[in-house]
Amino acid sequence: MPTSKLPDVGITIFSVMSQLAAEHDAVNLGQGFPDFAAPARLVDGLERAMRAGQNQYAPMTGIPALREAIAGKTARVYGHRPDLDTEVTVTSGATEAIFNAIQAVVNAGDEVVVLDPAYDCYAPAIVLAGGRPVHVALDPHTFAPDWDRVRAALGPRTRMLMINSPHNPSGAMLTADDMRTVADLLRDTGIWLLSDEVYEHIVFDGVRHESALRYPELRERAFVVSSFGKTYHCTGWKVGYCIAPPALSAEFRKVHQYNVFCTFAPAQHAFAAMLVDEPGHDEGLGAFYQAKRDRFRAQLETTRLRPLPVPGGYFQLVDYAAVSDLDDAAFCRWLTIEHGVAAIPLSPFYDAPPAGQRLARLCFAKNDATLDAAIARLRRL
Ligand code: PMP
Repeated sequence: MPTSKLPDVGITIFSVMSQLAAEHDAVNLGQGFPDFAAPARLVDGLERAMRAGQNQYAPMTGIPALREAIAGKTARVYGHRPDLDTEVTVTSGATEAIFNAIQAVVNAGDEVVVLDPAYDCYAPAIVLAGGRPVHVALDPHTFAPDWDRVRAALGPRTRMLMINSPHNPSGAMLTADDMRTVADLLRDTGIWLLSDEVYEHIVFDGVRHESALRYPELRERAFVVSSFGKTYHCTGWKVGYCIAPPALSAEFRKVHQYNVFCTFAPAQHAFAAMLVDEPGHDEGLGAFYQAKRDRFRAQLETTRLRPLPVPGGYFQLVDYAAVSDLDDAAFCRWLTIEHGVAAIPLSPFYDAPPAGQRLARLCFAKNDATLDAAIARLRRL
């Protein structure tokens, strides 16, 4: 038996719940993926690229046309145009980008401050780099950061702060004030920022996504990570990107180069064409998901689950205290096996889950028929 480098890591909760959903023929609102089609134009672009022979290695940093399109989109949306040669790197999903950024700057013994509940790939990447995750809990009701607690967690060994807005699992969003506070906290320190913005375009009620790229002081020290999987309903393609200043991108690319070297070439051509041909896709995404959110929340009101507010992203947290006193892992198993709806417990997103928290995560990136089928079952609770 090898000595595990990740002794605390098992199969991710998303795979566990998807497997359980399949075994019990449950409606899978657990793992976060759309069950509707990716845009036909994008799929056509992929086929066209493969038939045109774009099947060999792409440039290590990403094809120029895609980096150019990303730079243009970033300028349009956030008012800052990154340099496509030195600041934009196409990656095999946001997961690869997060891993690379951490490997690039976190040394043995360094600390990385993570705000819990946190997406589950963060801590293992920190540990593999020899670093130590320092967990600071978000407010258990609003999922807002307590910046005083974050400030108290920063010290001489801190190498990075990780933020995520819109937030998985809660949908909470950082405000402009939050971003200014982050700038204050990190000023005159050697602490890098990793801003996970994979749900950047899934924002509701006219509220603006506060990308770190909007803030000159932040973008000077940030790896900003995006995912085409979320924006274009194709999580299985695993294509994303990282925008970081030249010195950070140079180190990031050293890891990327020997991790994957380059990302799936035909998809890069498909996205390059898509971004140019349909620049409005990302602008319509908020309204598209807001309609799903509102419809799903109205339906949840007819169940005994209590929906929490969802400012962004495509997850709905529900408080199930009126239904069950099981802990969240047991509740989600019970819900899947006995009631045929798969959900994700929150405790795996925590180092130390808050005692007595009775919340589960449901994904509403689904066709109406899927959500209707889930609601019909949830009404029986
Ligand atoms: N960060 C967050 C917050 C996510 O929710 C996800 C996907 N579930 C990722 C990163 C990973 O994105 P990708 O699939 O592009 O690797």
